[in-house]
Amino acid sequence: MATVETRDNARHIAIHREVQFIDRPINDDGNYKKISEYYGELVFDIQESDSVPPAIKKAVLESSRGGKSLTPESIEVIANAVTNWAIANGATHFCHWFQPLTGGTAEKQDSFLDLKNGKPIERLSPSQLIQGEPDASSFPNGGSRSTFEARGYTSWDLSSPMFLEETPNGTTLCIPTAFVSYTGDALDMKTPLLRSITRLNEVATRFLKLAGHNEVNDVTITCGCEQEYFLIDKSYYYARPDLVQTGRTLFGKAASKHQQLDDHYFGIIPTRVMSFMQELDQELHRLGIPSKTRHNEVAPGQFELAPIFKEANVASDNNQLIMAMIKEIAAKHEFVALLHEKPFAGINGSGKHVNWSMASDTGINMLEPGNEPHQNNRFLATIAIICEAVSRHAGPLRAAIASAGNDHRLGANEAPPSIISVFLGDTINAIFDSIRDGKTFKPSGDSTIDLGANQLFNLLKDNTDRNRTSPFAFTGNKFEFRAVGSAASVSFPVAVLNGAVTEVMKESCELLEKDLAAGKSIDDALFNITKKWATTSESCIFNGDGYSDDWVEEAAKRGLLNLKTTADALKVMADKKQMSFLTEAGVMSPNELDMRYNVLLERYITLREIEFSALIDLINQNVIPSAIDYKLKLGTVIANQKAIGLECTVEVKLYENLNFTMECLATQLNVFKMSIESLTHDEQDRAEEIASTLFPKSEELGALCADLEALVPDNIWTLPKYYEMLHHK
Ligand code: ADP
Ligand code: MG
Repeated sequence: MATVETRDNARHIAIHREVQFIDRPINDDGNYKKISEYYGELVFDIQESDSVPPAIKKAVLESSRGGKSLTPESIEVIANAVTNWAIANGATHFCHWFQPLTGGTAEKQDSFLDLKNGKPIERLSPSQLIQGEPDASSFPNGGSRSTFEARGYTSWDLSSPMFLEETPNGTTLCIPTAFVSYTGDALDMKTPLLRSITRLNEVATRFLKLAGHNEVNDVTITCGCEQEYFLIDKSYYYARPDLVQTGRTLFGKAASKHQQLDDHYFGIIPTRVMSFMQELDQELHRLGIPSKTRHNEVAPGQFELAPIFKEANVASDNNQLIMAMIKEIAAKHEFVALLHEKPFAGINGSGKHVNWSMASDTGINMLEPGNEPHQNNRFLATIAIICEAVSRHAGPLRAAIASAGNDHRLGANEAPPSIISVFLGDTINAIFDSIRDGKTFKPSGDSTIDLGANQLFNLLKDNTDRNRTSPFAFTGNKFEFRAVGSAASVSFPVAVLNGAVTEVMKESCELLEKDLAAGKSIDDALFNITKKWATTSESCIFNGDGYSDDWVEEAAKRGLLNLKTTADALKVMADKKQMSFLTEAGVMSPNELDMRYNVLLERYITLREIEFSALIDLINQNVIPSAIDYKLKLGTVIANQKAIGLECTVEVKLYENLNFTMECLATQLNVFKMSIESLTHDEQDRAEEIASTLFPKSEELGALCADLEALVPDNIWTLPKYYEMLHHK
């Protein structure tokens, strides 16, 4: 593929790029609106609508929590209310918005136009609101259905609010939906998440009741997803065919200064980036997405956005929108946002920290310690249950975050390792140690610590915030699943986590019931749960440095899984036995698991094969031609000097180096091409071969390209370099 933009031109454009001004919402009195005045203006909130009577609002709430379905009359009222609202706000079309297995979002748009007695009117019928029929055959389905039955339908998810999508030339009403086949199989990311939320809600409510909180009726799963991303100038993007085709640079010489000085993290945000962030926040707030934090990340050119947490289902939809909006607003500011987990070799990649907890309708955060944690048996039992869930289902959790992109992060000494373990921090760890040994907990050392409410909270927060190396860390009042990839949908990882916790919590409820029936006190019964799971999950609890080689060894001794590549991790998903907890919890059927396994495996293979082919093209069309240009130059000088009888040691040395590196590259490239041609056809084997042999070979080729980049003069090298792409003015 030809380079679309030359490097010189790209550099010129990027350097002269101006800051873009945005329209800020203004009041009638000419003052800027406060965020609270425009927050959620693009969202249709049934509960706030004047056109929906209270009885229907109540029915919607009940129905979204798994209660009775809405009556056709109620649906008609809502359809009319949302249509009038959307049209009044400029919408001409509506769509069913869903998350197919590709990880992004999909939508099929219809106009509100209808003809009544030949006259044009606007209308959204109740059936159009609740059900749509996109052709399922064009979405990945893991070969589960033959074409004639490739009919699937989208079905309104009334627990996630409808919103308006504004584009320069029009507005569309988006209706969040689940996407299922006619046989009822989930064809999307969301359906398993919704099921897992329902199951965990049931069992967590039962658990809280048994723990003495009789007043609890409902438990929601809460999520806050911190999103990392890179921004580069658009002109550089189009001058790097690898970025355009694969989302990442396939090689690049590390800049002399990247992140060694740690001066980017929390540093001053460059003005052009700041104006992008301001518009992004404004648009997210209008969409009712509570964006809260924005800052520079560790690597140059890398940034983070974190919203205030919400119910998991809405948080997952919001995260999809956040990713889409980051890309869209970046484009308006002449940037390209890279959500890939590893856009630049040798520089920190991007992740998505999924903060996760459970909250009751009575206001209990189940992961928030009470006054005295060693006596706070409900809190400790909950933590122990989660440890056991993660320990028991580490393989499926690893599989749930597996992707080609994430393979670059996990285990690359910058992100959590691919070994799934739980970090608890010193305090809870000490408590668990003493409980296992049958002792009572004494706060370590300093006898002046009395574990009063605030003090304990701070103590936990302080010593749980420090460890950045754990894939699954307790951070004071929530767990943080840090190993999720930056480009991934959080739906599946959260569904697997919910399913795992559901299983252990259900067993715990049964144990509690038995103990209580035998006359034990609630505290004693809860203590038994804590002791049981703190003991069985001990090998999975790790509070040390997850980046160290010692941990890899130690984990192996403990018998923990270390599934380094997607090919290894996905094998778990094909193993019915290991995944049966999801089926038993009613989260996913065996058929759906099969489908997902096939889709993810195929995706892994395809992505890597695209990368390989793009790399070969880059080498042939950019790297080698640049090196030849330099050879020509050197050759002329050498010939000229020789002609007048001068030595040319320096030039000859340079020529030799260049030639040697090129020969290595050419030889390895040949081997690489042959290995690609001889790949096996069986998909699992093919994936494993790619992961274990071809991918490392492609990395070696990339390293040789970076060596050539270091040898060839800057003005001859045609591809934009890391230092210029990553440093914003
Ligand atoms: P940090 O990661 O720096 O400690 P915060 O504690 O502020 O930052 O939270 C990070 C993310 O965790 C935010 O998105 C926040 O809303 C979310 N979060 C906080 N409490 C909870 C909770 N109980 N459940 C789920 N997410 C939460
Ligand atoms: Mg965090």
